[in-house]
Amino acid sequence: MSARIIDVREITKPIASPIRNAYIDFSKMTASLVAVTIKAGGKRATGYGFNSNGRYGQGGLIRERFAPRLLEAGELADVTGENLDPDKAWAAMMNNEKPGGHGERSVAVGTLDMAIWDAVAKIADKPLFRLLAERHGREANRRVFVYAAGGYYYPGKDLAMLRAEMRRYLDRGYTVVKMKIGGDSLVQDAKRIEAVLSEIGSDAQLAVDANGRFGLETAIAYAKMLRDYPLFWYEEAGDPLDYALQAALAEFYPGAMATGENLFSHQDARNLLRYGGMRSDRDWLQFDCALSYGLCEYQRTLRELSIAGWSPSRCIPHGGHQMSLNIAAGLGLGGNESYPDLFQPYGGFPDGVRVEAGHIVMPELPGIGFEGKSDLYAEMKALSAT
Ligand code: MG
Repeated sequence: MSARIIDVREITKPIASPIRNAYIDFSKMTASLVAVTIKAGGKRATGYGFNSNGRYGQGGLIRERFAPRLLEAGELADVTGENLDPDKAWAAMMNNEKPGGHGERSVAVGTLDMAIWDAVAKIADKPLFRLLAERHGREANRRVFVYAAGGYYYPGKDLAMLRAEMRRYLDRGYTVVKMKIGGDSLVQDAKRIEAVLSEIGSDAQLAVDANGRFGLETAIAYAKMLRDYPLFWYEEAGDPLDYALQAALAEFYPGAMATGENLFSHQDARNLLRYGGMRSDRDWLQFDCALSYGLCEYQRTLRELSIAGWSPSRCIPHGGHQMSLNIAAGLGLGGNESYPDLFQPYGGFPDGVRVEAGHIVMPELPGIGFEGKSDLYAEMKALSAT
């Protein structure tokens, strides 16, 4: 039996939005959508992938390097001969790539890796979360915690609008909501936080996200302000690679810290655990496979966590996509981000899936489950028909 990749397509799509966080605006944001067709075990399947919001489309890298390597890779069968081995496809993509300096090639590879896993699970005729649970000897758990990420800055948005946004998330079943900080003064941000806390009361908890904006002094000044509030977490205070800042922050912030969405390799994740002062009993890790070389690499990251004494349940990935929902359900992550009103049609859940008491239940769809989300699948089908 044999397994090969026979077709790879990419299109770069706009996912522009008038919002901004403390670091960037999203007015010119794009994403790569890919379709990868494999033949394996006498079957044929097309898988789909896209990169998470916040990094741009990767059409150049995909067309020039990674798609040609997949198509030229030849035999990629797993040990059973019945399916394709994603790790072999991953190794083919990374052929002739030097270590370190991960840049954005990790986004291009993560996007293709998503499509490959989707196709492999479809060949196996199983939801990806079941395939993963089986391969790791675990029980799948279809019920996954999700939280609502929003609270962005945008022109004309006042406290009443911020409160109304958070109220809408609660009405939709979320029990944890997140808002941006660091795009305004500390005093103004404190007012925004108090407005949201008074709106949500005891119905939900609030997380805040600085998007890596702060230097050490500001990060600590915010920590002293934030620690007086009952927050769910204080996210990405400083530069993602400034582990000394993160470690210093822990001295001033006894509540939960969260970071990791801008670390793109298992080596970077390992450095965070070694040097970032993160505490395995309360802090959260947000590595997003769609930005960081995909699920093949994410499994290596989870191994690093385990070596460092961390449970996968401390991971709540960035990105709000169904790939991470599958990893959460299959490998026991603590949950997943969700953007109820943003980055559509890529984010969100299959049609008919509702948030109840802060959780969703994964439907039993083969692959990642994109076919269950009609607006997203319409774009995917259009790409594979080109
Ligand atoms: Mg964030």
